[in-house]
Amino acid sequence: MNETDTGTSTETGTPATDPTATDPTATDVVGLMRTELRGPVIAQGDPEYDEARKIYNGMIDRKPTAMVRCSDAADVMTAVDFIRDHGLELAVRGGGHSGGGLCLVDDAITIDLSPMRWVRVDPAQKTAWVGGGSQLRDLDHAAHAFGLAIPAGIMSTTGIGGLTLGGGHGHLTRKYGLTIDSLLSVDMVLADGSFVTASETEHSDLFWALRGGGGNFGIVTAFKFQLHPVHTVGVALTLWPVEKTREVLEWYREFLPQAPEDLSGFFAALTVPPGPPFPEEIHGKKMCGVVWCWTGDLARTDEAIAAVAEVEAGPPAFRFTAPMPYPALQSMFDELLRKGLQWYWRGDFFDRITDEAIDVHVKFAENLPTALSTMHLYPVNAAAARVSEDATAWGYREAVWSGVIAGIDPDPANADAVKQWARAYWHDLHPYSMGGAYVNFIGEDEHQDRVQATYRHNYDRLAEVKRKYDPNNLFHANQNIEPAAGKAA
Ligand SMILES: Cc1cc2nc3c(=O)[nH]c(=O)nc-3n(C[C@H](O)[C@H](O)[C@H](O)COP(=O)(O)OP(=O)(O)OC[C@H]3O[C@@H](n4cnc5c(N)ncnc54)[C@H](O)[C@@H]3O)c2cc1C
Repeated sequence: MNETDTGTSTETGTPATDPTATDPTATDVVGLMRTELRGPVIAQGDPEYDEARKIYNGMIDRKPTAMVRCSDAADVMTAVDFIRDHGLELAVRGGGHSGGGLCLVDDAITIDLSPMRWVRVDPAQKTAWVGGGSQLRDLDHAAHAFGLAIPAGIMSTTGIGGLTLGGGHGHLTRKYGLTIDSLLSVDMVLADGSFVTASETEHSDLFWALRGGGGNFGIVTAFKFQLHPVHTVGVALTLWPVEKTREVLEWYREFLPQAPEDLSGFFAALTVPPGPPFPEEIHGKKMCGVVWCWTGDLARTDEAIAAVAEVEAGPPAFRFTAPMPYPALQSMFDELLRKGLQWYWRGDFFDRITDEAIDVHVKFAENLPTALSTMHLYPVNAAAARVSEDATAWGYREAVWSGVIAGIDPDPANADAVKQWARAYWHDLHPYSMGGAYVNFIGEDEHQDRVQATYRHNYDRLAEVKRKYDPNNLFHANQNIEPAAGKAA
């Protein structure tokens, strides 16, 4: 589109850009965008610039030329046209939660979707339309009023955009699958500035690729999800001293894969935070344990996790059980892990937890470098595993766990220490993994071969879809899938 100089594309009804004869500077383009867009454009030199470029990971300090706060799909279409036509670098910000700060690139223009936080629930159809810049908490809040929810991540401030496009897993994944397994359709803006809807019946190749392929194919302005009946869930926390890590993992690796699908429990190595619900005597202690979510009969929550008594090392040193509204579980860690901390993470998929892997966990769990650093194993089996391998771009339907090693600390002086610990842990553990990682857990300094390992048999098909919809790789500030060689179809 935009072949026309009349100001409007007949194909989409979008205002077209008006490239000048002489190449304008990035600053000129920013000025032009200010006049065309409804949302604000925040550029270097503006008083709100430094605040606007802060993202979740405090370790990322990049200086884009400008951040374009799009108010709707029309703004996104206009901004894409401006950026592409003037040969500028483009990044896209959903919730700003990616570990490597993919939404922020030096000297680029960020299309910031954060004004597009809205949700419309259709309780009769049990569906929800969700704005492309929404956070998980927006959907949790709106759907909960109707006793509905989708499987998504464990922190409510995470962006629905990046999480869903990467696949998305959380407490409800064993019961209802990955986030993409509840995705019905999307509205999106492509690299040529056109607006399309993608679903199983429209642009089905694109819809396949979007479910796991990240932000490679365009900018999603709205997601439509199938909701599930979830209101109040049984939440439990069982913790053992870190010295019992071996025995707990030996029990957990047998119990979790065959547990009822109403039960999920992610394993964690952690330092106990200094506050409720933890008793003072375990504050600051290194421990290991499982965070449980039970979607069955609430009166049977304790029964669902009764098997923890079978851990050879003995019963948990700390045990907490409570019914919780689902949004409360989803926001349980928000305060502990607030915006601005230093983060460095790496991940891998696992289909088993071998004795050798347990040796590695024991070693590194005892040496957590800071109070917030942690390792989680998120279950991605059961309902998620029943979706066929070729139904979506997610490449690891036979994985049982998606693991993440996260070095975290408030103090920038500890950035190197948390990085080194996470890298060394990952280096020792990786040989006992399935080879690839959840795309949203790939470290910022990892190489392209990790993206290929993540998509493995799906990579070539993704590259073909990329060639069709984004042949010049406009959308490359992501875990990038390069367009297949040859002419666009
Ligand atoms: C504390 C924490 C906890 C987490 N827990 C979980 C978890 O439980 N489960 C889980 O699955 N993941 C989890 N994640 C990982 C999370 O899914 C990723 O970090 C994800 O990238 C966040 O998306 P975002 O939109 O907030 O990020 P952003 O940094 O804004 O974007 C990330 C990528 O997605 C692209 N993108 C974002 N929105 C759109 C859109 N609307 N259209 C097109 N492209 C878009 C961006 O261009 C960028 O490439 C967690 C992350 C953090 C920091």
